[in-house]
Amino acid sequence: MSFTTIPFEILIEICDYLHPSDLYNLTMVCKRYRSLLWNKTSTTTQLIWRSSRKKFITNLNVDPPERMCEQEFIWLMLLLNKCMFCDQTDKFELTMHWEFKMYCCFECLKQRTVSKSTLLEKYKFPEELFVCLPQLQKNLNPRDPPIYLIKDVENLLLQYNYEKDKQKWVKEQQDKMSELNLENEQYNTLHDQVRYDHTERLERLLRKLHDFYSNHRV
Ligand SMILES: [Zn+2]
Repeated sequence: MSFTTIPFEILIEICDYLHPSDLYNLTMVCKRYRSLLWNKTSTTTQLIWRSSRKKFITNLNVDPPERMCEQEFIWLMLLLNKCMFCDQTDKFELTMHWEFKMYCCFECLKQRTVSKSTLLEKYKFPEELFVCLPQLQKNLNPRDPPIYLIKDVENLLLQYNYEKDKQKWVKEQQDKMSELNLENEQYNTLHDQVRYDHTERLERLLRKLHDFYSNHRV
């Protein structure tokens, strides 16, 4: 019997012994495994990944946010080992931006985001809508204007134009966003704890300080 014809029941049992990165490798073996292991709604699949995560990645013991499946969560937190948009693999060039669900380099972040000042000056973006947008919390320089994902801005405008009771809608979005901001902060911290050891965290901090001072020499 070849490995690719193992009955699902047995495959599921085998998965119970596998690290998340082995599960990930298994998804690339054949279509059949991919359809089992990439299923985002099946309870069985979610359980396979969850149990592997809890068994092997002991510091990732918090569950994914409500709207996210186990696979995406583990992928973002742990398995993704390069910029999700380009081939940059240097850990120190990469940052998790949980607000945008992006683990990427600075260049790729820049291409996909827009600053508050640009939105206001160039696009006359309605000021009251900023509170409804996920905003990056870890700006390289805290004095830089906040930045937003272009895709979020477009989606928000689409919805805003469609809503009849705009004031009520903005208020609802604002409430959602303040909850989400707290959540994002927690997952950003969690990501850094899971991804980097103590020395790496310190080095990242020192590099950030270095960048900050070399960019802002008086
Ligand atoms: Zn990149």
